[in-house]
Amino acid sequence: MQPFVLSRPKTLAEAAELARASSQDSALRAGGIDLIDRMKEGLEAPARLIELRWLGDAEATMRALGPEGEGVQIGALVTLAQLAAHEGFGEAHAALRQAAGSAATPTIRNAATLGGNLLQRPRCWYFRHADLVCLKKGGTACLAVGGENKFHAILGGGPSFIVHPSTLACALTALDAQVEIRGPEPRTLPIAELFVTPKQDAKREHALQPGEVLVRAILPKPAAEQRSGYAAVKEKQSHDWPLAEAAVKLSLQSGVMTDVRVVLGHVAPIPWRSREAEAVLEGKPPSEALFAEAAKAALAGAKPLRDNAYKIPLAQGLLREVLHRVAGVPLPE
Ligand SMILES: Cc1cc2nc3c(=O)[nH]c(=O)nc-3n(C[C@H](O)[C@H](O)[C@H](O)COP(=O)(O)OP(=O)(O)OC[C@H]3O[C@@H](n4cnc5c(N)ncnc54)[C@H](O)[C@@H]3O)c2cc1C
Repeated sequence: MQPFVLSRPKTLAEAAELARASSQDSALRAGGIDLIDRMKEGLEAPARLIELRWLGDAEATMRALGPEGEGVQIGALVTLAQLAAHEGFGEAHAALRQAAGSAATPTIRNAATLGGNLLQRPRCWYFRHADLVCLKKGGTACLAVGGENKFHAILGGGPSFIVHPSTLACALTALDAQVEIRGPEPRTLPIAELFVTPKQDAKREHALQPGEVLVRAILPKPAAEQRSGYAAVKEKQSHDWPLAEAAVKLSLQSGVMTDVRVVLGHVAPIPWRSREAEAVLEGKPPSEALFAEAAKAALAGAKPLRDNAYKIPLAQGLLREVLHRVAGVPLPE
């Protein structure tokens, strides 16, 4: 690993200005789990790391976790462990607590932050190999297409077939979160607009500009009778990355489902909102037959590569399971 300078700004404005002024040669560091991995793997060698964890008390928003009006604010420096243990999330926001508690390992969850989790880079083995020049690193092709593609995208792929790595992104998209960004032009975006598809720009996964810092996520006021849930399937149940994830939010009023959100993770280059599945479910009473129809609709557009067609029945089964749990319909024997 190359030597680097560690800067410890005390204010967000100072951190953003440092990042803007040295954008070609610096990186913001939160928990450091992904960034330091990338540096150790030889993918990047920034001359300066800008430490976000030393920001002073004036930047309490970055660490806040609690009510914001009738919604919830989550500072970018809140750790996954804090999210997983947060008792303020009721049934309405259970998907986020479950997602945070399922990601990575207890040690990683103690250091990894909301901001870093959303902005981490893909785990594709071709991208992560320092000697390979894939599309994301300025090459001409996604090496997964003709290579080993067991863990790659089945939905929304092309020209790159990475899967988005963030577990929190899947749950926060289902919960209609917004993200607040500070920099030269402060802005707030629906979280779906934070993510960049490979068709928009194959070299990046998020829309932050140099000098911009993600400050917090905000969950809107939940609808009446809102409930949500998340689940993942992994090859081994700990210390592993998901093969597929599903997050669902809905309101159950007078026996019908409304305001339904269905989001799949680790199947596409962005958290994959399935409007097709939502349309099947919206305004109907929950049932096993309807969940099967929604799961089929969610994967109808899948285009698997050579090694990953298994993800279709896997994601369908997972989505059905989460729908059963969230809607309170017992799973069939
Ligand atoms: C064995 C293993 C299993 C894992 N399993 C999972 C899993 O199941 N699900 C999952 O989601 N992740 C998983 N991870 C990844 C891990 O959760 C992420 O690396 C971690 O969440 C990144 O957060 P961080 O705070 O350490 O980010 P950092 O490494 O500090 O930052 C990541 C990136 O975000 C940028 N950044 C950070 N904060 C900000 C900010 N506020 N504003 C602007 N830019 C910012 C940094 O510059 C950097 O580019 C796993 C990792 C390992 C090693």
